Amino acid sequence: MSDLKLYNTLSRQKESFEPITADHVGLYVCGPTVYSDVHLGNCRTFISFDIIYRYLRYLGYKVRYVRNITDAGHLEGDRDEGDDKFSKKARLERLEPMEIVQRYTVGFHKVMQLFNNEPPTIEPTATGHITEQIRMAQQIIDNGYGYVVNGTVYFDVEKYNKEKPYGILTNRKLEDLLEGTRELGGQDEKKGRLDFALWIKAGPEHLMQWPSPWGMGFPGWHIECSAMSEKYLGKQFDIHGGGMDLAATHHTNEIAQSQACYHTSPARYWLHTNMLTVNGVRMSKSAGNGFLPEELFSGSHPLLEKAYSPMNVRFFMLQTHYRSTLDFSNEALQAAEKGLKRLWDAYEKLMSWETGVGSQESGDKELDEKVRSLVAEFDEHMNDDFNTARVLASMFELVPIINSIKDKTIAITALSPDTVTLMQSKFKSYLEDVFGLKAVNEADNGKLQGVMQLLIDIRKEAKGKKDFATSDKIRNQLAELGITLKDEKGGEMTWGIE
Ligand code: AMP
Ligand code: ZN
Repeated sequence: MSDLKLYNTLSRQKESFEPITADHVGLYVCGPTVYSDVHLGNCRTFISFDIIYRYLRYLGYKVRYVRNITDAGHLEGDRDEGDDKFSKKARLERLEPMEIVQRYTVGFHKVMQLFNNEPPTIEPTATGHITEQIRMAQQIIDNGYGYVVNGTVYFDVEKYNKEKPYGILTNRKLEDLLEGTRELGGQDEKKGRLDFALWIKAGPEHLMQWPSPWGMGFPGWHIECSAMSEKYLGKQFDIHGGGMDLAATHHTNEIAQSQACYHTSPARYWLHTNMLTVNGVRMSKSAGNGFLPEELFSGSHPLLEKAYSPMNVRFFMLQTHYRSTLDFSNEALQAAEKGLKRLWDAYEKLMSWETGVGSQESGDKELDEKVRSLVAEFDEHMNDDFNTARVLASMFELVPIINSIKDKTIAITALSPDTVTLMQSKFKSYLEDVFGLKAVNEADNGKLQGVMQLLIDIRKEAKGKKDFATSDKIRNQLAELGITLKDEKGGEMTWGIE
């Protein structure tokens, strides 16, 4: 029996984790829709699942971690209304949809790397799995839960709900869900207000379309995750994750699709991360309160007082449990920066002690016991639904002890060699392997910020004097070094490292 307990949205309680196949875990996480840059809210979800993935491996599981790239089919409204996000952006920017996809996929990977997120083991794309999605939609029709109207395939929610509760994931009855939707008008093809598209007929203006048994079209967003999770993890797998905002529609529809197609619920455990907010409002593109990671790393966002390193931001996120909301502010980031520095300094001191220091006859049994029990808490807190915040609290209780040993106010002989070795190995495993933190040289980072600001100021002055030779020289030579300068609205200038 595993000691790991996780909160399952489906049962609304913490459950002991039992994988379907011993020692193996199948994990599916909904990936980004690559039609724009990811904001920090998206990053919070991906960082949370990175830590979950890392912890499962720390426990010794072999994990197949699938996180998709949505590169087709995600309409502006989650319930199949509006334009296709890629077509719209492609028309707006006069680019091929696949240029949009490429640009933002590369950007997404870069951001993930800066945050030191491990890549998933498989990263499938929706456009690479059109046949699988068509096959699944066809099976749903054959099983009696799908219908075709004018080249579009819909899922019949009311029919499905007669056999299985459609709102099972968020514990809502069909009547309650119907209340939140608008009446169908005469124009509507759908039979029921909650019916959603498995496949959508494409007009001639639609840039990405594929042949199907129902004519030219493109897949719906929800079928993508169902088809790809089944392909790589099987009809039922262990854990499905995503942000909380996906539970009510996207994940609810994924469950209905798998049930209608394979007569099984796709995942045994559903994990949902809570939202990153700004002044209490969920960070999102549509709310216009999205912070881009680069704006944080360069400090160029008007609401930021300074730049924050990726590790600083990662640590800021670790200090809150993934199921709690996290509010973004300068104060919170600055507090996290101080906390990380204090913790990392202590960690470096701890790791500089030779192995085997301490005394076999521990000089202070009580202290030795206290240290051992605080270290044992790391696993206990992580086993309690991945409580990174409480692990850090236990670590911070150990910091003054480490500092006192360093200052020699406590003799190292107070601890036994086993305790010192245990502390060293657990700190290393947690900070580096599970939490994915890396040493950052804050001093160098600060100097670089200063040098860049100086160059930007010189370039501004040169442009003011119409000395374009100098301003171009600065831009071009920085570009050669892999540093790009960007003119922002309002005359501001930001920079980023390629
Ligand atoms: P999208 O690219 O919009 O499909 O979103 C990618 C992931 O980010 C999904 O799992 C969303 O639930 C998640 N997400 C979106 N906004 C936020 C936010 N403000 N805080 C945390 N996660 C978010
Ligand atoms: Zn998904």
